[in-house]
Amino acid sequence: MQQDCIFCKIIAGEIPGTIVYQDESTVAFQDVHPAAPQHILFVPRKHVASMADITPEDGPLLNGIFQAAKKVAHDLKLEEGYRFVTNVGPRAGQSVLHLHFHLLGGRDLTWPPG
Ligand code: AMP
Repeated sequence: MQQDCIFCKIIAGEIPGTIVYQDESTVAFQDVHPAAPQHILFVPRKHVASMADITPEDGPLLNGIFQAAKKVAHDLKLEEGYRFVTNVGPRAGQSVLHLHFHLLGGRDLTWPPG
């Protein structure tokens, strides 16, 4: 756990989060500022700052995140279409330095994003 990391604090239960899924390596919770009717963040319990910091040893961690997202998308009946994205670095708008993937769905999603 990184002391000043807001997502580490949600994972640890130190600050509130609306958790929709968790297992031994992944936690998923609702985004506080939803950009779609369904907007859920998937994070590894392990603190990794961003996709730029993942290592080959993080393979199982990433698989866990994708399996969790697939299950949640299915449970939310989003099979018709959803987006699963991660922002990396300031030019992409990454505002929280703990690796996270946005699951967005429940509306038509345009491409390319802004
Ligand atoms: P990004 O801009 O890709 O780093 O995404 C960070 C996301 O975290 C944003 O969509 C925020 O709305 C969301 N966020 C920030 N703080 C919280 C929080 N305490 N609980 C849930 N979501 C949060």
